[in-house]
Amino acid sequence: MSDAKLYNVIIIGSGPAGMTAALYTARADLCPVIVEGNQPGGQLTITTEVENFPGFSKGIMGPDLMNEMRKQAERFGSLFIQKNVTAVNFKDRPFRITAGKEDYLSKTVIIATGATARLLGLESEKKLMGHGVSACATCDGFFFRNQEVLVVGGGDSALEEATFLTKFASKVYIVHRRDKLRGSKIMQAKALKNPKIEFIWNSVVEDILGVEEKAVKGVKLRNVLTGEITEKKCDGVFAAIGHTPNTEIFKGQIDIDEKGYIIVKNGSHTNIPGVFAAGDVHDFTYRQAITAAGAGCRAAIDVERYLESTEE
Ligand code: NAP
Repeated sequence: MSDAKLYNVIIIGSGPAGMTAALYTARADLCPVIVEGNQPGGQLTITTEVENFPGFSKGIMGPDLMNEMRKQAERFGSLFIQKNVTAVNFKDRPFRITAGKEDYLSKTVIIATGATARLLGLESEKKLMGHGVSACATCDGFFFRNQEVLVVGGGDSALEEATFLTKFASKVYIVHRRDKLRGSKIMQAKALKNPKIEFIWNSVVEDILGVEEKAVKGVKLRNVLTGEITEKKCDGVFAAIGHTPNTEIFKGQIDIDEKGYIIVKNGSHTNIPGVFAAGDVHDFTYRQAITAAGAGCRAAIDVERYLESTEE
């Protein structure tokens, strides 16, 4: 028998979904434990200005917003653990969460592990990561002052990253595999009228050049309509092609769809009673900070009701 303490609720992940779940479960006197994960605060900690989170008429920096959410959750008694969950056992009760050498037992779990930026999958990309290749313009844009960079993708991330990069770079190319953008109208308009941004349509990056020099020198592009291969000189390559849900540790424990997203029904319920999911880990449609926060609130209320219905 383990003598580990039994918690009411463990929240895995500390982005907007996890933080909101923490706030609500703390205020419901459930003394939540939040295992923060590899990137405390989640994806917003590597963004700049967030202009679409209600309540901040002048916008707020992503890291500041997450810091505020954390402080608010802490104020009501949330306990944060700065570890990464390495395994879970949802087959026995109470549920067991392993983080490093420690095991934590809980009556309920909220999975809010979010999603991670996807890469192109090229060998050269792997070798040049940190040497001109990046998946985070906010983190690395500064290094490309007066240089030429290329962003891959046609969604909001690509448009946002490209627009942000024009603060530093002399030229930003957006390489998109189609001739229609997926991103929102407002972001499209902003990027299309930016004189530093040039679009390269119907094209994919076949290879990144500069492996021997250990610095990006350019890319090999393939036009998907004509098959033509061309080379384009550039000093940096930013992948902005979407995200993969962080569900590796839950495989075999819980129902997950073919793309890796956790399947939820009736609010935040998973197929295991007592295990709930919130945010980008299950939501591939909306994927906004505010929808993740809303989902965190929903999961917290579902936990509260579940505990009420199972205890007594
Ligand atoms: P996304 O909307 O899924 O877009 C991914 C883009 O990458 C698509 O244009 C896709 O092409 C392209 N792509 C995917 N795999 C590729 C590959 N292997 N090679 C080349 N191109 C590839 O992802 P996202 O831009 O990260 O946005 C995700 C969500 O977050 C969206 O809901 C978005 O609105 C939201 N978001 C909002 C903001 C904001 O409001 N400030 C900022 C960033 C993101 P196809 O179009 O051909 O599929």
